[in-house]
Amino acid sequence: MQLVWFRSDLRVLDNMALTEAMAQGPTIALFVACPQSWQQHDMAPVKQDLIRRRVQALQQELAGLNVPLLLVEGSTYQKIQSVFEQLLPLGIARVYSEAEYELRERRRDESLQNWLAVQGVAWWQCDRQCVFAPGSFVNGIGAMYQVYTPFKKRWLQRFAEQGVQVLAKPKPQAPVVLDLPELTPMQSGDNSSADWFVHQDEVLQQLRRFCQQQVQDYKKLRDVPALDATSRLSPYLAIGALSVRQCLARLQFEVGVDLQQSESGASVWLSELIWRDFYKHVLVAWPDLIKHQPFQAETAAIVWRNDKTLFQAWCEGNTGYPLVDAAMRQLNQTGWMHNRLRMVVASFLVKDLHIDWRWGEQYFMSRLIDGDFAANNGGWQWAASTGTDAAPYFRIFNPVTQSERFDPDGAFIRKWVPELAKLSSKQIHWPHKLPIGNTYPAAVVDHAKARQVTLELFRQARQQSDDADE
Ligand SMILES: Cc1cc2nc3c(=O)[nH]c(=O)nc-3n(C[C@H](O)[C@H](O)[C@H](O)COP(=O)(O)OP(=O)(O)OC[C@H]3O[C@@H](n4cnc5c(N)ncnc54)[C@H](O)[C@@H]3O)c2cc1C
Repeated sequence: MQLVWFRSDLRVLDNMALTEAMAQGPTIALFVACPQSWQQHDMAPVKQDLIRRRVQALQQELAGLNVPLLLVEGSTYQKIQSVFEQLLPLGIARVYSEAEYELRERRRDESLQNWLAVQGVAWWQCDRQCVFAPGSFVNGIGAMYQVYTPFKKRWLQRFAEQGVQVLAKPKPQAPVVLDLPELTPMQSGDNSSADWFVHQDEVLQQLRRFCQQQVQDYKKLRDVPALDATSRLSPYLAIGALSVRQCLARLQFEVGVDLQQSESGASVWLSELIWRDFYKHVLVAWPDLIKHQPFQAETAAIVWRNDKTLFQAWCEGNTGYPLVDAAMRQLNQTGWMHNRLRMVVASFLVKDLHIDWRWGEQYFMSRLIDGDFAANNGGWQWAASTGTDAAPYFRIFNPVTQSERFDPDGAFIRKWVPELAKLSSKQIHWPHKLPIGNTYPAAVVDHAKARQVTLELFRQARQQSDDADE
């Protein structure tokens, strides 16, 4: 008997662990919910619910292949061994899975693999979260790329040479008859992710629709939060309900993306998928990032002000900066935030409120339906000017100008900050000089002054690091 252990690859199509196991013999599958470990990762309840709903759909999809998926309620990663202890008497010869890159997950796998070896059970793992496995390409001096653009160039070169291979759905096996041990059945979630569908066909339909109808305009419209002009596939990529290879294959099929044509919407979308790979490669190459270290070492010396009242105002969407508040309120209510707004609110937290980017990183993880350590850490470090392709520290988003530019008629603000709904398109971006007489808060900081403080914080950290070098 072969056993596929599903974790962040919650799909039937393009699933190498499943394909390989079924090629070897009768296969069963396992998913263990570990809410206590998820909590330690600050995983948002809405993401936890999406996972629980998705594996229920996966169970039906696998039933079509006669592969029983056992959905087990666990607690922590440490307790998973006891689930395996109960399953091994079924005659499990080998356990199959897809690699995960975060520290706790790697430790969990290492310890389980060692224990299984003692039990005489083989361990098989593939590395397919990215298009090209982390560590599989390096720069001229044999190290991982520290900057995105040369990484992308190399990535595109390899993509042009090798293309992308999507694994087909395995053929159904003969039904397996099992005498199952008593395992605690997985509980249902809180249904907070109900607005997001979970069936494979619906996810694929969304991918198809995006590649057929929207990707052409992606370059032009992707920065406008009021429009649904991005794919909104990140929740599925984050839990592996969809693979990045499926995205690429569909893009090529629908658009025949010309890799040299960097101006097309398809090429820009492709660049985003490459960013996803890049941050995962970076995470594997610099494991200290998992321990929340800044990529640029000298920025560790920045003395953040960490005012808890300001942090609370940011979390709640009560900063008095309408676009920031609209974005945070949307996040709190739905678990979703548009990429442009993630950049705006992250910059605001760090460079206007002078709060440690790690506070924001953690808050995002605890709320986002698509929380992904590598992308989230990469995004926050980019915004804080502490990361790989860090935005230069002196380039500081002006939250009002961003609002005028990317939400020109205020449609997005009006939806999420109803107190401002009646204001004109001109007034809505900075409503403080108006006698509006409503409850919308005053601005918590003066952007121009805050900007100067940021410059000084970075200058001092640099000075300190130069002094230490001398
Ligand atoms: C501060 C900050 C935090 C972020 N946190 C996360 C996170 O926790 N999880 C997450 O998936 N993305 C994160 N991102 C990246 C990006 O905002 C989201 O991937 C994107 O908004 C998802 O929307 P979409 O699926 O419509 O993306 P599209 O624009 O359609 O892009 C397609 C896919 O490419 C990937 N992608 C796009 N942009 C990026 C990027 N900058 N970095 C890495 N991958 C990218 C995603 O998988 C996305 O689904 C963060 C960005 C910032 C600035």
